[in-house]
Amino acid sequence: MKVIVDQTKCIGCGTCVAIAPGTFRLSSQGKAEVIEPVGDTSEKIKEAAESCAVEAISIEE
Ligand code: SF4
Repeated sequence: MKVIVDQTKCIGCGTCVAIAPGTFRLSSQGKAEVIEPVGDTSEKIKEAAESCAVEAISIEE
């Protein structure tokens, strides 16, 4: 599974980090980045992607 954050869309709300902290973190620029593509269960990663208000997270199976 490939997880991508579109940094141009991300508004740094932190929701994905709260849901899947093993996969996402906020960078020093305040944007989400992927630290480990399988850092959480796929369900949690999908939940994080669906919870992103600006649809910045895309998942390739
Ligand atoms: Fe960025 Fe979306 Fe994560 Fe919020 S949920 S930090 S907007 S990628």
